[in-house]
Amino acid sequence: MQAVLLTRGENGVPHAALTDLPESELMEGEVTLRVTHSGVNYKDGLAVTGLAPVVRRWPMVPGIDLAGVVEVSTDARFAPGDAVILNGWGVGETHLGGWAERARVKADWLLPQPAGFTPAQAMAIGTAGYTAMLTVLALEDHGLEPARGKVVVTGAAGGVGSVAIALLARRGWHVVASTGRPGEAAYLKELGAAEVIDRAELSAPGKPLQKERWAAAIDAVGSHTLANLLAGCRYGGAVAACGLAGGLDLPTSVAPFILRGVALLGIDSVMAPIPRRQRAWQRLAEDLDPATLARATTEIGLDGAIEATRQVVEGKLRGRTVVRVG
Ligand code: NDP
Repeated sequence: MQAVLLTRGENGVPHAALTDLPESELMEGEVTLRVTHSGVNYKDGLAVTGLAPVVRRWPMVPGIDLAGVVEVSTDARFAPGDAVILNGWGVGETHLGGWAERARVKADWLLPQPAGFTPAQAMAIGTAGYTAMLTVLALEDHGLEPARGKVVVTGAAGGVGSVAIALLARRGWHVVASTGRPGEAAYLKELGAAEVIDRAELSAPGKPLQKERWAAAIDAVGSHTLANLLAGCRYGGAVAACGLAGGLDLPTSVAPFILRGVALLGIDSVMAPIPRRQRAWQRLAEDLDPATLARATTEIGLDGAIEATRQVVEGKLRGRTVVRVG
């Protein structure tokens, strides 16, 4: 089968190549799939470039998302011919991932292909889009709604940011998109942003408490950006933190928490339990306009996936990238 294979070089730097991998290399699992689509996520970029040690089994097939058709199943929940998807669970990190024509995985990791989406659309959403939905749900569960004020989205032109903007705008939020790519302002407004700001406004060290600018925030960046989002949040507001594109640190103070009751909501997609995933995919089907999703999506083949990982870690990919596998 065709696969992108990641091996560990002598100096510890990963080496990625499109190769013919024997199916006997597939790992343990109850379900064997013919993979039709995968995607390019930031974590795939970290894995292939070696910028962070996300790969913990060598060799590895990257691809933390996959959509496919069941070929063999020893689990009663899935039968040959079923269309399924998988997001996270360590696939592409500790278990061979989606950038191969076949995958063998645990049945517990699979969801039936979500109603309302084709496999390509489900992968256009992918982990980034489903994480965007988890962040929106977290803000709503905190009691936040458009009447409370503006919402700011950082990393706006990336995968999480693009989908988050579309979802929030659809529910009536006034969305402020923060980006380092002013040339993408028209794209961000097409997705539903009401305002576009330069990410430099948020990325420098700032005061622990600042003018109250937004009721809610979705952050894909971390570091000073996340600290400034907290410092600029209105009384009783919340920031949903899901990413580290600008850094893993968080140089903040307790001031926003104890003086304004601001909440920091942590978002994890990788180990999220199945009911939360089902809720997110159901809401995506209700809220995500297919034409808007298409505007945010680029499709490539397996032969373009390695180059795309270099671009994703440099913040150069726009929106979401689907990998057509088989
Ligand atoms: P993308 O690469 O598609 O988007 C990231 C965006 O962040 C870029 O497009 C860019 O947006 C911005 N950015 C990049 N570098 C910097 C920087 N140095 N400083 C400030 N902004 C920067 O990635 P995704 O959207 O897929 O993922 C975003 C983040 O969320 C990643 O850190 C990823 O690991 C994380 N993530 C976490 C998940 C979880 O379960 N918690 C799940 C999915 C993703 P612009 O050009 O508009 O400024």
